[in-house]
Amino acid sequence: MDIMWQEFLTIIREEVGSRVVDTWFNVLVLKGHDILRKEVYLEAPNAFIREWVNKNYLMLCQTHLARLLHIPAVKVLISDTRSSIVDKSDSAADPVSVSLASIASPDAEPEKAAVVTYKGARSVANRAAIYTDSAYSFDNFVVAPNNSLAYAACRAVSENPGYLYNPLFIYGASGLGKTHLLHAIGGAIKHKYKKNVILFQTADRFVSEFINAIRFNKVHQLEEKYRSADVLLVDDVQFIANKGQTQEAFFHIFNVLYDARKQIVFSSDTVPQQMDGIAERLRSRFASGLVVDVQVPSLETKIAILKKKAESSTVVLDDQILHFIAERVALNIRELEGALIRVLAFSSLTQQSITIELVHKVLLRAPTAVIQSVDFDKIMKVITRHYNCTNKQLCSKDRNKHLSFIRHIAMYCMKHLTDKSLRDIGMFFGGRDHTCVVYALEKVERHIQDNSHFSLELRRIENEILKG
Ligand code: ADP
Ligand code: MG
Repeated sequence: MDIMWQEFLTIIREEVGSRVVDTWFNVLVLKGHDILRKEVYLEAPNAFIREWVNKNYLMLCQTHLARLLHIPAVKVLISDTRSSIVDKSDSAADPVSVSLASIASPDAEPEKAAVVTYKGARSVANRAAIYTDSAYSFDNFVVAPNNSLAYAACRAVSENPGYLYNPLFIYGASGLGKTHLLHAIGGAIKHKYKKNVILFQTADRFVSEFINAIRFNKVHQLEEKYRSADVLLVDDVQFIANKGQTQEAFFHIFNVLYDARKQIVFSSDTVPQQMDGIAERLRSRFASGLVVDVQVPSLETKIAILKKKAESSTVVLDDQILHFIAERVALNIRELEGALIRVLAFSSLTQQSITIELVHKVLLRAPTAVIQSVDFDKIMKVITRHYNCTNKQLCSKDRNKHLSFIRHIAMYCMKHLTDKSLRDIGMFFGGRDHTCVVYALEKVERHIQDNSHFSLELRRIENEILKG
């Protein structure tokens, strides 16, 4: 039974993403099933979780549990317990321990309340990172025409937080330095105003944090924490889309900070006006300060960035080689960095000096100049031909193991051979969450490491795609 539950968790992790599984499903217990009555019994640790799962994920549970039990349909019944006592011993020291008294329904009898430690909840990325990262600073950011406006605004904000541009909203495609700039602001303000509380958080983590806060009846504490910030840096704010309740909470936090003249900085993949699934009032707040973009770097800028990045290595790369790498990596600085690291690593591991030939060989896996000419259709064509399946199957919700793995490979190729975001890839496969794509990439990468045969096969597929 345990195995079936594990299998179930694996399947739905794909469907709804790790965050949802960690938040809602890891705390459920499979109590049993009755094949004759076609019923499966689950137990939730409290009424709130039971209701939530019932309301949002019942169909999902029924579909997959029926399949795993090899019967056409099951009814899933979720009970909640108010009496399970798990590991009281370290509850005082454990930040995820909660008193059920506080989250049980108001009419729960107090003596039935129990302390429950939610195993697994620790793994959820649910704590706001108090600003610490110093790897990304203004000093190691290359200023060029594609980002000079954003850079200037960030510097200005760091000099005088809360007064000049508030909020500051930075947008642009993936891998162009937005997160870097947010950290640089955090670092610079921390340096200048030592006592300032600086909070950096990505919007998807904020969403998880908020969901957890609801679960543990700690919304008030969460709001307090954010309201106590002197500087709030919210990365990838687009991930708050379609999360109405979180937006609501966030809106209030925003207003409190804004009124108190605390600096707020956002990054996003689009301009506020084009953000879908965001409440109008929040969108207009995003746009109410200064909105700046970061653009795709020119060849010269890419070379300058490579030079800066190579400074920290002991290897000297001549201009011709830097030029060669910069030319082959089309749009994205993250990829550019990756290419450089691969070249440096390969040369040091094999003790070969860095030549154009070597760079060519190393970058062959992702000849990124081609990135512009590869699209999803091309990838799907090769993958479906290679594995003898159809686009429809891959974009469907079918959880068949073999099909899932082919889907993962397709996602992997899309990530590596195009400059599309995780979200774009997820959307392409029937509107899956970006976390599903992350999971797929991890799976394929692990498989590459474990299986040289597969690694070769993947190389062949990629080459086929690149040949068009
Ligand atoms: P984004 O948040 O826009 O997706 P990141 O800030 O994560 O992008 O940047 C991706 C990588 O590229 C990071 O390692 C970052 O340091 C680097 N990078 C981006 N722009 C620059 C720049 N102008 N100078 C130096 N490094 C940069
Ligand atoms: Mg980023």
